[in-house]
Amino acid sequence: MSHATILAVFAHPDDEAFGTGGTLARYAAEGCDVYLVTATRGEAGQSVRPDLAIPASLPAVREQELRCACAAYGIHPPIFLDYLDGHLTIVPQGQAVGKLVRIVRRLRPQVLITFGPDGIYGHYDHLAVHRWATAAFDLAADPDCFPDRDACQPHQISKLYYRVLTEEMLASRAQAGQRPAVVMDGVPFPFVGYPQSAITTVLDVTPYLEAKRRGILCHATQVSPDSRYAQPLEAMAGDPWFCQETYILARSTLPHVEGIETDLLAGLR
Ligand SMILES: [Zn+2]
Repeated sequence: MSHATILAVFAHPDDEAFGTGGTLARYAAEGCDVYLVTATRGEAGQSVRPDLAIPASLPAVREQELRCACAAYGIHPPIFLDYLDGHLTIVPQGQAVGKLVRIVRRLRPQVLITFGPDGIYGHYDHLAVHRWATAAFDLAADPDCFPDRDACQPHQISKLYYRVLTEEMLASRAQAGQRPAVVMDGVPFPFVGYPQSAITTVLDVTPYLEAKRRGILCHATQVSPDSRYAQPLEAMAGDPWFCQETYILARSTLPHVEGIETDLLAGLR
């Protein structure tokens, strides 16, 4: 398969950037159709650049930041589910999964990427999106699943990937003196790491670091000017934290293959 379609589903503008920016850029560069669904416009986020957005303008500014990032990765413009940041656990889940099922049946991807069951650091919105996307993987293929029965034909995605971090990556951050956690309302929620034995897929995104970095920097309200991402590219090169994007293959319709994958399209090409 030379022309695959890949769909990533995340909660907030910038979720795609730090975790999968290199992956998205790689497959776009290889000629795949790469799409990103983002559930919210990130209006509950804090801005590190008050000069760029006030609370009332933050959703519009962050939408533009995500459009900028998608252009940097070379993928299609983002698709928004139009939900409110911080409220995804109270969205009627049939409605949200129905939206994703329609998108899957329209775009007909071979690969779906989303959060793992940990949501990287347990953010409730991430956990909700993980559940929706996993349900949509199954239900998009189910002819008894409903949305617009006549308008959209069932579609079987071949592979479902969860983006997860490894214990080694987190240990290396800690050794570098950085606390691998995200502070929410003053409380540091630690990143969740998986043992190497749980990882099925490792992408070396070194050739796509510049596109990843440009995508990250598009999210200007979220990236501190003293962040390593704002430093020259050499500051990121060689560091697995930036250069490796690690996944768990959670569902696959393809025969099982031993060993670590280095390609989300392994078995599909
Ligand atoms: Zn997020």
